[in-house]
Order: sequence, then C-alpha cells, then structure tokens
Amino acid sequence: MAVRKPILLVALGGNALIRKGQQGTIPEQLENLRVPLRQIARLAEAHRIIITHGNGPQVGNLLLQQECCSEVPRLPLEILVAQTQGQIGYMIESTLDSELMSLGVDKEHYIVSVLSYVVVNEDDPAFLHPSKPIGPAFNEAEAARLPYPTVRTDKGYRRVVASPKPVTIVEKREIKRLIDLGFIVISCGGGGIPVIRDSRTFHGVDAVIDKDLASARLAGEIGVDIFLIATDVEGVALHYEQETRRSWLRSVSVGDAGRFLEEGHFPPGSMGPKVEACIEFMKHGGTRAVIASIERIEAAVQGAAGTEFAP
Ligand code: ADP
Ligand code: MG
Repeated sequence: MAVRKPILLVALGGNALIRKGQQGTIPEQLENLRVPLRQIARLAEAHRIIITHGNGPQVGNLLLQQECCSEVPRLPLEILVAQTQGQIGYMIESTLDSELMSLGVDKEHYIVSVLSYVVVNEDDPAFLHPSKPIGPAFNEAEAARLPYPTVRTDKGYRRVVASPKPVTIVEKREIKRLIDLGFIVISCGGGGIPVIRDSRTFHGVDAVIDKDLASARLAGEIGVDIFLIATDVEGVALHYEQETRRSWLRSVSVGDAGRFLEEGHFPPGSMGPKVEACIEFMKHGGTRAVIASIERIEAAVQGAAGTEFAP
C-alpha cells in the first residue's frame, strides 16, 4: 500500500483576502490570495490539503447590501454565510488552480469547495449573551428600527449575534474521503454555517462561529498532521501591545499558552481564538499546531517560522 501523505490544514485569516487599508475589491482579493496559494500549491505535492478561511469583511458587505435595498426580502445570516463560502471558495479555487498550473502540476490535483454546516449546542451559554458585533454601524434612531438586536460599539450601533462553540463539522467524513482521493478541499468558510441538530435534521441559527475554533475542530475530527493558522503577524507574542516589551514566541507549551491566555496576552477578537484553537487541537490528540504569517506558510510547515505549540 502506498505511503499516505501527511494531512495539512491551513486556516486563512481575513488578511489573506483583504489587507489592512485596502477597499477589498475582487481584483485586490484575487491578487492577495496568490501569496498563500502559491505556497500551498507547492506544498500540495507532499501533503493532503484542507483550506479553511474567514469571511468577516465579505459577510459584512453582504449585510450592508441587505440594508441598502428594501425591494427584496432581507436574507438571514446563515444564507449570507453560505454565499460567502461560495464566493470565497470560488476565488480560492480559481487562484489555486492557476498557481498549480504555473507549477505544471495541474493534472494531479483537483480542487473542490464544500459547503459546511457546523453543529452548535442550543444550550451554549453564548446564546444568552450575544457578543459578536457584525455588519455596518447605525446611529441610535436607525438601530431602534432594525428587526434584530444591536450593541453600541466605537463605530456606532451594530448588529450583535452569539458566537457559540463548534461541536462537530457535519461534512467531516466527506472531507476526509475527498482528501484521501487526492482532492484539495476548501471548507468551513467563515467558521461554517451554524446549525442546531433536531434529531436527524438540522436548522440554521443566527450566530457566527469563530473560524479558528471551527478549523481546530475539523482538524481534530479529521486527524490532521499539521494544523496551521496563517495570519498577518509572524506568530504569537507576549506583551504584544507594548512594542518595547513585545517578544515573539518560537514555541510554546500548551500549558504555558493557556496561562498566557488567562493573563490577557491574547485578546478575544484576534489572537485569543487562534491560541485557544491550537490548545484545543493539541489537547485532543493533535501533534503539530502552528501560528504563522501568510507570507511564511511554507517555512512554517518546514518548522522554520511561526509559533509552534508543544504538548
Ligand atoms: P485574522 O484575520 O487572520 O483572523 P486577526 O486580526 O483576527 O487576524 O488576528 C491577528 C492579529 O492579532 C494581528 O494582526 C495582531 O495585531 C493581533 N494580536 C493581538 N495580540 C497579539 C499577540 N499577543 N501576538 C500576536 N498578535 C497579536
Ligand atoms: Mg480573526
């Protein structure tokens, strides 16, 4: 029997698509995607590959479009998440395809985007305290007329939804089969479409799942060999906010990472869920978790960049 290639899961952050300061046009997003996908194309030779991705700015734009047109019905959040899985999946597929072609290996790899449902628990305490602001900002009078709850933020009033923990990825078996057949799989976009299980059926809920936590869950359920979170900084730092004291970690034990998280080194809206995701993955039997920059995905896989989590 042929030796199985190791499985690599790369979670692409929002910055892989839209860089800070950019407007986020489609040509910009396609150009930005070349950086991670060129590297992933080269890694495809020696790995079975799964790509997951964020959708913050994209779903934010779709939410804004809902408010701009009153002639058609507003779409529920779960539909918008599904839309972003399609649009971003398409952009990743086409860019990766062209990168594979320029390497001359297009014949050996097939790419497929899988719409993904992620089961959440109805009793998750997150539903009692919605905390995640999404979409555009409104003034107080506008916010009062909206059909959903809002929260006051620095930018104004924004829609707020729960961010429950991912329990299981519904399509995990299909994804595993596809990578075993040699497909490169794109899935869990935007953390997945959140659903609640109703005996044998599912129904969507108004919530968003953190893409790093959903990626860690998928990584654990598939049993990936390398779980890599690619973002816009070189790795994980202590005292990140104080530039003079900032110190990058080349490796960190799961125990220390948990302690630093409790001490407040990793904020909830950015580095916190990434560190939490790596801890979760390692605690559930994972062997390698790495947080690295989008520019250095290949080096991180080789163990030469990023922050490595040690058991
Ligand atoms: P992504 O879109 O890739 O999910 P985020 O913006 O959510 O990225 O998280 C990455 C950001 O986390 C970095 O740009 C950095 O500014 C911020 N950050 C906060 N604390 C830390 C820390 N301790 N170490 C590294 N980065 C940190
Ligand atoms: Mg993020």
